[in-house]
Amino acid sequence: MSHTPELPERYVCDNCHVIYAGTVTHEDEEFHYSEPTECAACGSTHFVIIEQYARHKTQ
Ligand SMILES: [Zn+2]
Repeated sequence: MSHTPELPERYVCDNCHVIYAGTVTHEDEEFHYSEPTECAACGSTHFVIIEQYARHKTQ
């Protein structure tokens, strides 16, 4: 899997489909992304990484 630290991971709210940039931290010479804790729009805590979103929705 290619790694592109310049671009933050993006997450889609599973409920209302708002897209969030992942929270980025820099540790041990690597960038790490984490999903939002809660959707600001609907309060859902379920997020899907955008690259997996289409597959997630069609299964
Ligand atoms: Zn939402």
